[in-house]
Amino acid sequence: MSKHTCTALVISCTDFRFVTMIRDLLVGSGLKDNYDLIATPGASLGLEKIADSISTSIRLHEPENIYIFDHEDCGAYGEDNPREAHMRNLKKAKELLIQNYHNKKVLTYISGFDKIEEIL
Ligand SMILES: [Zn+2]
Repeated sequence: MSKHTCTALVISCTDFRFVTMIRDLLVGSGLKDNYDLIATPGASLGLEKIADSISTSIRLHEPENIYIFDHEDCGAYGEDNPREAHMRNLKKAKELLIQNYHNKKVLTYISGFDKIEEIL
């Protein structure tokens, strides 16, 4: 097997309504064909469920940056879907990832229907 690496690992919700918007942002950031993609309902909410997939991506493809995309109106959150819950989970996910992969840069976002906002 040849060695092949990519720049980023992207973690997003499965929700079809945000797929193209997120892809366009990534392509616009110069990441076309240059990111691994893991989709799980709720994105940051489901981080523990995809721990193995994350570690496989990092081991095989050595991405420098990890992007997490939550989105508004997320079914994985059910009725209780406030922005604060996403902010909290994104922060928690970021801390966990940095703890486990301390040389990676973690970027977090919330997608709306009109735009994607970076959460700093
Ligand atoms: Zn969702």
